[in-house]
Amino acid sequence: MPKLVMKFGGTSVATPDRIRRAAKRIGVEVSNGYNVIVIVSAMAGKTNELVDWVEETAPFFDAREYDAVVSSGEVVTAGLMALTLQEMDVPARSWQGWQVPVKTTSAHSAARIEEIPTANLDAKFAEGMKVAVIAGFQGVSPEGRITTLGRGGSDTTAVAFAAAFGAERCDIYTDVEGVYTTDPRISDKARKLDKIAYEEMLELASLGAKVLQTRSVELAMRYKVRLRVLSSFGEMSDNVGTLVCDEEEIMESNVVSGVAYSRDEAKMTLVSVADRPGIAAAIFGPLSRAGVNVDMIVQNISEEGRTDMTFSCPTDQVARAEKAMTEAKERGEINFHDLVADTNVAKVSVVGIGMRSHAGVAAQMFEALRDEGINIKVITTSEIKISVLIDRKYLELAVQALHDTFGLEQAA
Ligand code: ASP
Ligand code: MG
Repeated sequence: MPKLVMKFGGTSVATPDRIRRAAKRIGVEVSNGYNVIVIVSAMAGKTNELVDWVEETAPFFDAREYDAVVSSGEVVTAGLMALTLQEMDVPARSWQGWQVPVKTTSAHSAARIEEIPTANLDAKFAEGMKVAVIAGFQGVSPEGRITTLGRGGSDTTAVAFAAAFGAERCDIYTDVEGVYTTDPRISDKARKLDKIAYEEMLELASLGAKVLQTRSVELAMRYKVRLRVLSSFGEMSDNVGTLVCDEEEIMESNVVSGVAYSRDEAKMTLVSVADRPGIAAAIFGPLSRAGVNVDMIVQNISEEGRTDMTFSCPTDQVARAEKAMTEAKERGEINFHDLVADTNVAKVSVVGIGMRSHAGVAAQMFEALRDEGINIKVITTSEIKISVLIDRKYLELAVQALHDTFGLEQAA
């Protein structure tokens, strides 16, 4: 029988009643002839509560015990979902990560899936079980301890199961209708996309579009898992969501597919550092060891052997970055005159595989920002993305202007 993976996020399993509604959708796919692998998240808010309890108990916690605690939310929803399906006469059984087993690395709280053996579940399907309900977000380390995959990790569980079992599709049920051209809270012209390419989704996810964990998109791209994002609310019939797929499957698309943003960026400049071989390594090595996620980097032209180095990072990492730089200076590894932090900036990006074959996207972006009188502070580009750093107070205006100028309101 063909297999389908259906993943339900926290809001879709937030109460026993919502679990029943999700179970009805699963029942429909079973009657459509599928053997279904269901991945569940913890009830909405549950994981946050568990994390808070861990931090309250032990500020410098043992990551193995963190995983023991925070993995428990999914255990509850998996059992409740299996019970709900059984009440509807659908043969179902729940599985925790270690029972499958979902074999992961031992990087607690950020483990990676290494292997999902299919034998245990397939044996049950062969006996007539119709639905395997899997606790998402968790696995087991080589040492036999419970691990978790990082926040939002049940998306990755879902894609990994779809790949391991050769599922026809991986449906991610959530509380939005799909993937949008931009955040509908910022632009009322935002449009739901019917299809989006893996690479574009990967950029959007890493730019902070919360709809899918970045790692899950990477996996889907690698194993060519057809991924559908759709709402678990509303009518089932008119619910097609957004298909994340290979770019070959997308016949017509706009040059730019989406406008993404990140509100909490900071721009930091090391003023007057020596321009010599190894200076970038001497700056960014300590930053990375301090856990600072550096995004954009700009080095100015040098004058009399000295230059300015500018980089961006999330606002809440500024203190850590300052400490790392000051300590590196004290150790004599780098020397700078000043460290200037601007915490009132935001990043706006346009993303689209169409950029590969169209010239002039950057110019059009910069003109649109100019027409709104918005100053650009830093620019970076990749093959399918252009990002700018601007004053945070212009964020909404910039997103709206870019959405307009690239005509995203209309499908191609
Ligand atoms: N419950 C976990 C979290 O909130 C995993 C997930 O829902 O994807 O991060
Ligand atoms: Mg999620």
